[in-house]
Amino acid sequence: MTSTAFSDQNGVYLMGMTDAQDLRNYITARFTEGELQFAYELFLKNAQDLGKAEHIPPLQALWKILDAAYKKKMPPLTCGEGCAHCCYTGVMITKMEWDGMINAARKNGLDLMELVERSEKSLHRVKKAVESGIDPEKIDWYQMVINQRCPFLDDNESCTIHDDRPLDCRNMVAFRDACASKKLEHAQRGGLIEEAVAPAVIAKLQYDATPKMKRRKFDGTAPLRLIQHWLLDWKKKKSTRKKKK
Ligand code: SF4
Repeated sequence: MTSTAFSDQNGVYLMGMTDAQDLRNYITARFTEGELQFAYELFLKNAQDLGKAEHIPPLQALWKILDAAYKKKMPPLTCGEGCAHCCYTGVMITKMEWDGMINAARKNGLDLMELVERSEKSLHRVKKAVESGIDPEKIDWYQMVINQRCPFLDDNESCTIHDDRPLDCRNMVAFRDACASKKLEHAQRGGLIEEAVAPAVIAKLQYDATPKMKRRKFDGTAPLRLIQHWLLDWKKKKSTRKKKK
């Protein structure tokens, strides 16, 4: 994956698909360690406080804070309903994000088995890779599902769990023009310090939600998996439960 850095009055941005290492390099060049630490602590505290005040899970509070930061600090986004080019690529998410998506899907009355059936092709590719025994670190997960629609995208090209969509989806934004193709001509990353620290905040929330006896094995945001991979796991657990009955 290659990325292009360019700049304007809003700062320097990474455009289009970005390699995780490119993004990390960019973030550490743009913000000082002190700025990142301060932003992390503030973001975490605000998410925890808002979660308590509104009786919502801290992850939902985090999404609200992130949405507000985009509105306040970035030019108006040109992303809109029915514009879904960025939903045809790989989205890597944590367990906590997946749980939030599943809860939203249930709340919205989605039939997850229907999503499984609609995504047969991409799920099959992911299943083959998972069962291949190849080190997951060596697999190009993004490439595997490129041009495949996200299981949560509906027929009108709208996200069915939009309020609870994961970080990867929120951080890919356009504000110069709407993307015209799956090349994501105008999609950008790296605009906000909140984006830079959000994975660390999610890792901490996930740590806090992990039972004490299991924390010894805790590994930050790991496992980070494709949406399709979590959906496969869900299907597997469902059929195991069925067999036991
Ligand atoms: S979760 Fe929603 S926003 Fe994210 S890729 Fe899927 S359909 Fe698009």
